[in-house]
Amino acid sequence: MFNQRIKIKELLSGEKTDYTVTVMGWVRSFRNNQFIALNDGSTQHNLQVVAELGLLNDETLKRITTGACIKATGNVVASLGKGQKLELKATEVTILGDSDAEKFPLQPKKHSLEFLREIAHLRFRTNTFGAVFRIRHSLAFAVHQFFNERGFVYINTPIITGSDAEGAGEMFRVTTLPLDGKAPKNKDGSINFKEDFFGRETNLTVSGQLEGEMAAMAFADIYTFGPTFRAENSNTTRHLAEFWMIEPEMAFYDLEDNANLAEAFIKYIIRYAMEHNPEDLQFLSQRLEEEEKQKPQNERSELNLLQKLEFVVDNDFQRLTYTEAIDILKDCNHNKKKKFQYLIDKWGVDLQSEHERYLVEKHFKKPVILTNYPKDIKAFYMRQNDDGNTVAAMDILAPGIGEIVGGSQREERLDKLMNRMKEMNIPAEELDWYLDSRRFGACPHAGFGLGFERMVQFVTGMTNIRDVIPFPRYPKSAAF
Ligand code: ATP
Ligand code: MN
Repeated sequence: MFNQRIKIKELLSGEKTDYTVTVMGWVRSFRNNQFIALNDGSTQHNLQVVAELGLLNDETLKRITTGACIKATGNVVASLGKGQKLELKATEVTILGDSDAEKFPLQPKKHSLEFLREIAHLRFRTNTFGAVFRIRHSLAFAVHQFFNERGFVYINTPIITGSDAEGAGEMFRVTTLPLDGKAPKNKDGSINFKEDFFGRETNLTVSGQLEGEMAAMAFADIYTFGPTFRAENSNTTRHLAEFWMIEPEMAFYDLEDNANLAEAFIKYIIRYAMEHNPEDLQFLSQRLEEEEKQKPQNERSELNLLQKLEFVVDNDFQRLTYTEAIDILKDCNHNKKKKFQYLIDKWGVDLQSEHERYLVEKHFKKPVILTNYPKDIKAFYMRQNDDGNTVAAMDILAPGIGEIVGGSQREERLDKLMNRMKEMNIPAEELDWYLDSRRFGACPHAGFGLGFERMVQFVTGMTNIRDVIPFPRYPKSAAF
């Protein structure tokens, strides 16, 4: 058997010394022809592997370069060096994979995030991205654990979808028809999609909600966790063309139940990461503090990353209606002094990210749940309130990010739903299957979508969403 190794995390977490182990990993640095800093991805920390002078021949020593993969066997001993309790006194070092030091792009020094994005295939091997992706893993695991503990059924909704009426964003077309003008045409010159692979127009999904609702009408509590795609040309630090979304959908929930679940969920997964990734969070917190030192004093955060997460977990989210938010924004000095790019002058306007961030970061200084938005700026399936103007929508806004959750109580009344669809020019024939859920045993229900990468951004403090997904897709970029 080849892989009889101990993971460095396990080795370093023990107190025990004087036993023989084998470790395998990638060389981060090699000093004085003796001290190898070895990392195997199980932890932020490197294991110091000491190859005493004379143990290795010149040929092998030359091959221990930054980036090389090695296998080392030896005795675990107490370390005299600072920063570590234990080290490995090697009796044998084998090179598993060479790495040409001249060509390996990652040197043992600080690289910019922009540079690392260009070599995303190698950036996993840095401290920062090691921490980010271990935390991403923990958050994903916590998502499943949270819902599983509450008896939710995990449903996989389709990635290729035949419904183009979801309205959540611009879609990517899926087709096998030729692009060069040879596609089969109808008499009127339009493309004949009956000849296409699925015999109809298909797209990549922008949301699994509509299908998720169908499952909730049988299991009551379900959630999805899958990739979604939006062809929106948004070059922001919060938008990706391919991102992961978690969409719970619950029968017998109203808007308040929905908000309660979302708040409990967010706190739960943050807590999980705090418990399971303390060292990675500590590292990222320090990293952020260093980065903030470049900023003028008044722009620096009052709380560091760890304090911010603790604060969010320990305090209630601020809940208010859209109407109350508009009143605050209309009257705030920022608006009066025309410091918003989009001024808030009347009820009914959509909130821009600058407004959301003002509410969260300046006004309340905590996460905010905004409810009951004007119906004209929200999707057709949201439940109409009795006032005739608003719908039972909710957005959760997080400091530093803006919108992290979008959700609503759904319109379960068939006549109201169909009227709204007509008003919004959404073809009912296309969504007949969806309307069936309102024809056969409809019930009050609600759900929301949490953008997973925005959540990872929030927990890791990474400012750009492109740095919390392994291989980001955004306008003009689909490398790797
Ligand atoms: P935004 O206004 O920020 O573009 P949205 O209103 O389009 O968001 P929803 O359609 O409600 O968002 O999607 C639900 C959640 O998915 C959002 O709250 C957000 O966390 C996430 N999300 C939406 N679009 C993107 C994107 N392009 N990249 C990453 N996450 C996204
Ligand atoms: Mn959007």
